[in-house]
Amino acid sequence: MTTVVTDNCRGCRFTDCVSVCPVEAFHVDDEMLYINPDVCIDCSACVPECPVEAIYEEDDLPDGQEHWVDINEERSQETPNITDTLEPLEGAEDKREALGL
Ligand code: SF4
Ligand code: SF4
Repeated sequence: MTTVVTDNCRGCRFTDCVSVCPVEAFHVDDEMLYINPDVCIDCSACVPECPVEAIYEEDDLPDGQEHWVDINEERSQETPNITDTLEPLEGAEDKREALGL
């Protein structure tokens, strides 16, 4: 099992998740974050930290979101590691409100 970032992270990048990860499992591109399943120890610390509920344990993924397991595995190999929090992307707060979170 692993822990994965899903679509709600796109355009947000609050990065609260990164600050609690004990093993530096997160990677980042221009849009969102990904978790490297080879590094993640499934501690679940990041799951409640995400303000837009973008992170799920693999077994808890909502129906239709299973493809994010492969996306996280692939994109985490292609993108740089992120170990420090970043400024949220422009519009991140608007997106959170739009999601009702
Ligand atoms: S806290 Fe959630 S939305 Fe923000 S970067 Fe992490 S996974 Fe993405
Ligand atoms: S589950 Fe734990 S180890 Fe995996 S990405 Fe989240 S905080 Fe890091």
